[in-house]
Amino acid sequence: MNLAKIPRRGYLQGPTPIEPLENFSQALGGRVNFWIKRDDLLPGCGGGNKTRKLDYSFADAVAEGADTVITCGAIQSNHCRLTLGWAVKEGMECHLILEERVKGSYNPDASGNNFLFKLMGVKSLTVVPGGSDMKAEMQKLADKLSAAGRAPYVIPGGASNPIGATGYVACAQEILQQAFEMSLNFDHLVVPSGSAGTHAGILTGLAGNNAGIPVSGINVSRKKQDQEEIVFELAELTADKVGAPGAVSRRSVNCFDEYVGPGYSRPTEGMIEAVKLLATTEAILLDPVYTGKVMAGCIDLSRQGYFDSCENVLFLHTGGSPALYAYLESFR
Ligand SMILES: *Cc1c(COP(=O)(O)O)cnc(C)c1O
Repeated sequence: MNLAKIPRRGYLQGPTPIEPLENFSQALGGRVNFWIKRDDLLPGCGGGNKTRKLDYSFADAVAEGADTVITCGAIQSNHCRLTLGWAVKEGMECHLILEERVKGSYNPDASGNNFLFKLMGVKSLTVVPGGSDMKAEMQKLADKLSAAGRAPYVIPGGASNPIGATGYVACAQEILQQAFEMSLNFDHLVVPSGSAGTHAGILTGLAGNNAGIPVSGINVSRKKQDQEEIVFELAELTADKVGAPGAVSRRSVNCFDEYVGPGYSRPTEGMIEAVKLLATTEAILLDPVYTGKVMAGCIDLSRQGYFDSCENVLFLHTGGSPALYAYLESFR
């Protein structure tokens, strides 16, 4: 793999930190050393994983001569917040289509990312019912904008196509380099598995380097089997793109669906415990929709002894804390 061949905008400012979670590890019994990769500290308004992907997506948009971007997400979407943020920086118009996955949950006056959409001057915001064909909705809008003389570029949900996932191939390489420099070997990596670009990119980057580090993906919406198929398919396409065809094996794709709870974005006891534990032991903010549930999985798996053969486990913190402020009731 030679990622230097693939165009990107240069949104990163060097590697994000890898920090030890000493207090947190002690709170879990001290058998395993947990570490955290701080992608919540990536540049872009509010930070988070989408910046790595959008670095590549916007490069493609610029190459195509776009002056407008369209994307989609849930009503508190971090991906929409970061796409809008980078569009502002690039001087492009940004249009968002939001899926109301939990009926009646869209509140135009809600805090969190919803507030930031308006603060950063989103050009248009369309809310559609849960289960809508988001791709078709985005295309409809793109056609309308093209007819009006704009040059729109559609970024898929979560920027999870091979272009966006390349950002997490690069992240896997970054982790390997940092671990080398720290003389540290990670025995296991825990990542979120949502629109799948993060998980697929990490798997591709590790496999393309023959790293031999197992990865556990923690689901935030889908069933295990469905999610694993989506991750594998995207990893195969991503591996083709970055020059490592066939690198990722189906066996290496492992997802847990036990921590989703009643559904996407719906709070769980485990999520609340995880958000509170990271805040009180490490002063690190997780989020209610993604990283809180992923860490709930990490905590439960640790208690079950899943990591007992590991010395060092790395948790990928993909950001999302701006959404915390839309979930205050869950924490009262
Ligand atoms: C989007 C998102 C994820 C999931 O990443 P995918 O690439 O969509 O699987 C995890 N955490 C946060 C905070 C996110 O915004």
